Amino acid sequence: MRKYIKRLFALLAALCLAGSLAACGSPKSYTADIFAMDTVMKLTAYGPSAETAVNAAAKEINRLEAQLSNTIATSEISQLNAGSGGTVSEETASLLSAALTYAQMTDGAFDMTIAPVVAAWGITTDNPQVPTQAEIDALLPLVGSGHVSLSGTAVTLDVGCSVDLGGIAKGYASDRIAAVFKENGVTSGVISLGGNVYACGMKSKKEGWRVAIQDPQNSAGYAALVTLSDQFAVTSGGYQRYFTGEDGTVYQHIIDPATGYPVQGDLTSVTIIGTNGTMCDAYSTALYVMGLDKATAYWRSHSDDFDMVLITADGRVLYTPGLADNLESVEGSSYAYAAIG
Ligand code: AMP
Ligand code: MG
Repeated sequence: MRKYIKRLFALLAALCLAGSLAACGSPKSYTADIFAMDTVMKLTAYGPSAETAVNAAAKEINRLEAQLSNTIATSEISQLNAGSGGTVSEETASLLSAALTYAQMTDGAFDMTIAPVVAAWGITTDNPQVPTQAEIDALLPLVGSGHVSLSGTAVTLDVGCSVDLGGIAKGYASDRIAAVFKENGVTSGVISLGGNVYACGMKSKKEGWRVAIQDPQNSAGYAALVTLSDQFAVTSGGYQRYFTGEDGTVYQHIIDPATGYPVQGDLTSVTIIGTNGTMCDAYSTALYVMGLDKATAYWRSHSDDFDMVLITADGRVLYTPGLADNLESVEGSSYAYAAIG
């Protein structure tokens, strides 16, 4: 069923890629809806080169998916995983290197070598399952950055190990789109690659882009709005992809590398806001794994690098002080809003 829905969407998206133009007195804009990286994406740019830029951005996303996916057999990542290593492009090598750095910085909370455990659960596939404890115990020794060696563009993976860039690839793609927009002279636009948003410039002379942070409890609602300009906002949340086991337990797609189990923490979503999409993506995944206390401590020691909005399972929306003037609460919401001191 899921496959069918995906195909249907891909077909609709292909039709939509013809894009839509809007003029009517305001500066010309162009929007395309696409389905790539297993995600619904929306790309909008304003100005005379909007259409060229959006089409170039869509092409760039497809290029990156073909290179970085671990479900497309011909991608560089799939070939690495199949061959326990190999030679990759400079671009892939530098993304692998960034992923290793973020793994080290987050003490392994973000870890692309979680791949064999992700595969055992199959949460984002058509056949999710709950592995036995024995299976998880057998896979956990394969997880850890020490299993990857990277020298220039040559990569070696220890036997049985593999990598999954699902926690960082969309963030990298959003950095690339920012570059594509710039190359095409776009100074105003907004893109959303699932939970990854890039706000290019301002919406108008006076207004930044108001970006909604989804309410994890209600897929049709949002829990807060943040106003952004030339920034990325990347959200990780269990509600984005999950499956429900036979006994009603919900297993979501972000795995705690320390246990091999889907995170069952005190956060329902983490949004990282900063000027580097790749970093925001790695941190959104990592801080979701860490949970409230460790995520807050991590922000305290890296507060120059990013702002964040944490939504807790007990109904709080907590934001860093840098967002105090840019975050709007939702009227009538049951959430309690507070700045992190
Ligand atoms: P995100 O939505 O950016 O938080 O990424 C989640 C995706 O990254 C999952 O669907 C997996 O493919 C992969 N993943 C799961 N757990 C981790 C983890 N602890 N570190 C890195 N990648 C992960
Ligand atoms: Mg991420």
